[in-house]
Amino acid sequence: MTIAEQISALRKELHEHNRRYYVEDDPVISDHLFDQKLAALKALEEANPSFFDPNSPTQRVGGAVTKNFTTVMHAYRMYSLDNSYNKQDLLDWETRMCKILGVDVLDYTCELKYDGASISLTYVNGNLTQAVTRGDGVQGDDVTNNVKTIHSVPLQISSSDLPDTFTIRGEIILPLAGFNAMNAARIKAGEEPYMNPRNTASGSLKLQDSNLVAARPLDCFLYQIVSDQSLFKTQLDALEAATRWGFYVPKHYIHAPNMEAVFSYLEEWEEKRSSLPYEIDGVVIKVNQLNYQEELGYTSKSPRWAMAYKFKAEAVETQLEDVVYQVGRTGAITPVAQLTPVLLGGTIVKRASLHNADFIAGLDLHFSDTVSVEKGGEIIPKITAVNTNKRQQNSIPVRYVTNCPECNTPLERNKDEAQHYCPNAHGCMPQRVGRVAHFISRKAMDIDGLGAETIQLMTQNNLLFSYADLYNITAADLIPLERLAEKSAQNIVKAIAASTAVPFARVLFALGIRYVGQTVAKKLAQHFGSIDALANASIEELETVDEIGVRIAESVRGFFALAENRQIIEQLRTAGVQLEQDKNESPVSNALADLRFVVSGVFTNFSRDELKALIEQHGGKIGASISSKTSYLVAGDNMGPSKKTKATTLGIPIISEQELVMMLNA
Ligand code: AMP
Ligand code: ZN
Repeated sequence: MTIAEQISALRKELHEHNRRYYVEDDPVISDHLFDQKLAALKALEEANPSFFDPNSPTQRVGGAVTKNFTTVMHAYRMYSLDNSYNKQDLLDWETRMCKILGVDVLDYTCELKYDGASISLTYVNGNLTQAVTRGDGVQGDDVTNNVKTIHSVPLQISSSDLPDTFTIRGEIILPLAGFNAMNAARIKAGEEPYMNPRNTASGSLKLQDSNLVAARPLDCFLYQIVSDQSLFKTQLDALEAATRWGFYVPKHYIHAPNMEAVFSYLEEWEEKRSSLPYEIDGVVIKVNQLNYQEELGYTSKSPRWAMAYKFKAEAVETQLEDVVYQVGRTGAITPVAQLTPVLLGGTIVKRASLHNADFIAGLDLHFSDTVSVEKGGEIIPKITAVNTNKRQQNSIPVRYVTNCPECNTPLERNKDEAQHYCPNAHGCMPQRVGRVAHFISRKAMDIDGLGAETIQLMTQNNLLFSYADLYNITAADLIPLERLAEKSAQNIVKAIAASTAVPFARVLFALGIRYVGQTVAKKLAQHFGSIDALANASIEELETVDEIGVRIAESVRGFFALAENRQIIEQLRTAGVQLEQDKNESPVSNALADLRFVVSGVFTNFSRDELKALIEQHGGKIGASISSKTSYLVAGDNMGPSKKTKATTLGIPIISEQELVMMLNA
């Protein structure tokens, strides 16, 4: 055997053993022998670097570091699911579908709804080429290096019926045993335990160091194959094919010939869920026939052919030990119950949100009360009831604080709002620190290297009155804090200076105006074009902007009405921060440079304007009509027939929105 053949044979063998162990749970060789073979492969690869393969079994151990995850457009949008909570919801759903399809009966698949982080895996010629998070559904983060370390994700597959290119979707989950072991280790090391498996799983995907991901006992369960070819007739066939191709599809799915069968599945799993080694938050019911799925299509948020059935939340009783009040960066006060730690659905709960003053009053909560705690969809569990039978005599009712727990300023509450606020925006420490932390965060000014502690120290030492002061900081100011090394201090100063290139919309988001999130900031930036125009806008003008209501409008007005804020803006202006929309915003990539597109028809994943904007962001040009200069016609549904004819006669390629997105990602 040549070296190449030896390497290839070992890789093939190890991929198969990996599958036997992690997917089938039925290994045929000992762990020891596996390790020996892996070591042999590693030695061969090291001696012969020209045979490097990113998908070799040796690449699972991690090692790659991703500093910034690349954003990738999904070729097929990743939708969310509609929720149902009872049988009637499901019967109504069935009626709606039958009406659209003009049929009397439908059959379904029932799968468990795994509670983790969604992932989209792409395979080209049997090789895993990309793993992308759901993100906002339209685009997600490329987390390939991290996903490769998960053993149940095949790096290479072969099967006679494998399409050249396909995408498969699934859920990255953290089994309970692994989660509890990780927490035990953290508690032993004096660290805060993780809140729940789902968040830990999704957090793991975004770790920069894939070595750390490799050390986490993550798993990947698959549930949907997407391809531009129609490969299967039913979802059942697709699940069986995925299993045959070497993916891990939990065996608990069924084919339900009718709604009755769906109901019995729901009852069965409502009962059995706690015996599973991982968390599920319900069942997903899908129309089995794929041609029906296609006909039913999608709403703007979710497929019409699938429905999540959410289980009733599990509940336990425990005792209220204390109530603490957290102050957020916008001054919003959140009361949090400190509970006697209790096991709930496989994780330890010791805090619960109490939302606001009305919520506490509504419960008539007393200290030391026995309370019912439930885990809903939220990160932090909630208190749903007080068991007054167990109330201690003379117990003291919980009275909402009247003053800020951090700066003692009397709290305020806007009419029609449940939340209390600390109005001392510029004097209250957690608000000052929180605003700077928000300002430098990745989606805002993206200033690296400043930790929460450094910000706290800088604020306490009056180096920072507001985030605008960041631009006056020198390395000499930073070095004495936390004994920062000269080099890291200089890097921070550099990162701060570099942030003056961040575009206006993100600056606007970074300012931390209450209710102005990323989307609102983009809309405002686009509409007003500059901070001055925005600062001078009246409530009425603000309200003319798409999706801006009076609540946001008043918040924006309130922000610019404060003299302190206007002064901060002036400081930012002096520092050279972008306070105007850049007319010729630099393209996101040059993937489409020198290409001319005509966009026509109605699309599924984008509006026509979104597609045009997307093309321009990637350096392409848009034409109104087809000529010999046109490079591609991007065609949606109901496109005018004359355009199509013209493109065909001129020999101009006609592509779909998916193909366009693939060009961007290539
Ligand atoms: P939601 O985020 O609540 O709208 O629910 C949609 C998510 O459920 C999808 O993005 C998937 O990540 C997840 N999910 C878990 N199990 C399944 C399954 N068997 N089929 C489809 N989606 C699932
Ligand atoms: Zn305060």
